[in-house]
Amino acid sequence: MKDDQEQAILSVHVRGLDGMCVGCRAWWSRLTPYPCWQVDWATSRQAQTITARFLESER
Ligand SMILES: [Zn+2]
Repeated sequence: MKDDQEQAILSVHVRGLDGMCVGCRAWWSRLTPYPCWQVDWATSRQAQTITARFLESER
């Protein structure tokens, strides 16, 4: 898993004017309320990465 994968997801899966996810509609023609599960996944992954870096810098 790479950091830029989460960034790529977050840059595509953004909130549309109607409150639906733009990325899910563009990629799969699927109407998903924002935040979709991929945004949830990417943000939780980023939080873990940031936490891990913080803990490493403490050592
Ligand atoms: Zn999405």
